[in-house]
Amino acid sequence: MTSAATNRLDLWDQDGKVRFWWAALASVPSSPESWEYRRLKRVWFDHTINHHPFVTPTGERHLTVSLFENFAALPAASWLPALLEAAGLPEIPERLTAVNWGYEVGTEARGKYADVAIHARDPEDLVIVVEAKARGGTLKPDDHEPGSYLDLPAFSWCERRYLIYLVDEADVESLETKAQELGVRSGILTWQQLGGIQIEAARHVDAPERVASLLAGAIQFQFVERSIVPSRLAAEYLEREPATEEIHKDAPGKQTSTEREIQEWRLTEPQALPDSALAPCMYEPTETLREALSELSAAADCVVRGDLEEAKRSLTATDRPEFLEYYTRCTNRLDRPLAREPKARLPRDERLETRMPGDRLRRELYERDGWHCRFCGIGVIDPRALKLMAAKLPTAARWGTGNANCHSAMLILRASPDHVLPHSHGGDNAMENLVTACFLCQFSRGELLLDEVGVSDPRLRPPIRDVWDGLLRVLEGSAE
Ligand SMILES: [Zn+2]
Repeated sequence: MTSAATNRLDLWDQDGKVRFWWAALASVPSSPESWEYRRLKRVWFDHTINHHPFVTPTGERHLTVSLFENFAALPAASWLPALLEAAGLPEIPERLTAVNWGYEVGTEARGKYADVAIHARDPEDLVIVVEAKARGGTLKPDDHEPGSYLDLPAFSWCERRYLIYLVDEADVESLETKAQELGVRSGILTWQQLGGIQIEAARHVDAPERVASLLAGAIQFQFVERSIVPSRLAAEYLEREPATEEIHKDAPGKQTSTEREIQEWRLTEPQALPDSALAPCMYEPTETLREALSELSAAADCVVRGDLEEAKRSLTATDRPEFLEYYTRCTNRLDRPLAREPKARLPRDERLETRMPGDRLRRELYERDGWHCRFCGIGVIDPRALKLMAAKLPTAARWGTGNANCHSAMLILRASPDHVLPHSHGGDNAMENLVTACFLCQFSRGELLLDEVGVSDPRLRPPIRDVWDGLLRVLEGSAE
C-alpha cells in the first residue's frame, strides 16, 4: 500500500510556470467520436480509476482512491479552502503557500492509517486527516476519537491538526450525534459535497472552456456512476463515456502488491502552488529598465567592435536618475508592509563563517542561471564585463561602487549571488541555496525569508536560457 509522496501532476511550461497536464491541451477535439477525444478521456480515466494496487471493487478505499484522486489534477488553492469550509472547520487557511497529500498515511508497521492526510502551509503548517466511510459504513469504536488519528506519530510534529469525516449525506445525522462529543477539531464532509467541490474547481481551471468542461463532466460521471449525486453539477454533462471494458482494454497489467510501503508524505521542501498566490518577485523591472538593458547590450557590441565613442553614448543615455530613485524606493520597501513579524535572525556566532561565495562559485552560479535574475527574470550583467568596460572606457560612465556614484542602470542590473535561505537564518553557500539575482531583487528582499515577502521559491522555476551572455562578449579578445 502506497501513499504517494506527491499527488500532483505537474508539467513545466515554457514560461517556467507549473501547470497541470490538462494545461497543455489547447482544446478538446470537437468530435466525441474522434480517436483523440477518446484518448483524452482515457488519460483521465486511467489516472483516476485504474490500477491502484490497493483498489478493491467496493469499500472506502475504492471510493477514496478513485474519487479523492481527482484533486491531483486540480490546483490545491482552488479546492482546499472550499473543502475545509464545507467540513465546517474553524480555521480556513487564508494564503496557502504549499500543499501535499497522500493516502494511507501512518508510521507504524501495523496500526492505524489515515485514509488521506493533507499537509498545507499558510505559511504555518497545518495537517488535515480525512477518515472516509462508504454509505452505511459504520464508525469503528476508535474512529469516534479524533485523537486516535490525530495523535498518530505521523502527525504529532504539527500543532494545527484537524480530522474530517468523509461520509455519505445519508449518514450525516447519525454521525453528527456522535460528533457533538468529538470537539471542535473534527468536521464532517459528504461525498456529495466532495463531488461538488471538485466539479466547481474543475470548471474554473485555467484552461480553455472545453477542457475545463471535459474535466468537470468526467468528474461528475465518476460520482454518478457510484450513485453519488454531487452537490454542484457540471454545466455540460458528457453523455458518451467510455464503457468500463473499453477503459480496461489494453490496460497495463494490474499491480497486485499488497505490501505496505510507507513513503515520506510530508513536504520536505516547500512546494510552491501552481497558482498566482505568490509572486515571482517583489518588484517587476520597469519597461524603461528593459530598454536600458538592450541599450547596454548595444554598448557592449560597440566595445567588441572597438567603437568606443558609440559605446560611450549608450552608457550616458542609460544612466538616468529615475533608476536610482526606483531602486531606492524598492529597497526601502515603503509600500510593502510585512504581513507578520520577521522571523528572528540567528545570533552572529551561530551563523556560518563564510558569508559570501567566492569568485569561482559566483561564475558557476551565473552560468548555471543563464545570466538571468531567478526572481524577476531580467538579464543581468556579469561584474567581469563591467570591470572590463570600466577599464576600456574610464571616463564614459560613473564606475564607483556606491549607489550614488555608479551608473544607475548597471547598479540594478549587476549580477549577484542571492541566498534563498538568508545567511542570517543559517543559509550556506551551497549551489542549491544560491540563485542569481539582480540588485533590485537582491536588496528589496534583504535578509527576509521568501514567505515573509510573499515571493515564491525561485528554484521551482527553471533558469531562463537564451542568447543573453551577461555582456561577457566584451571579454572576447581581451586578456582578462
Ligand atoms: Zn530581479
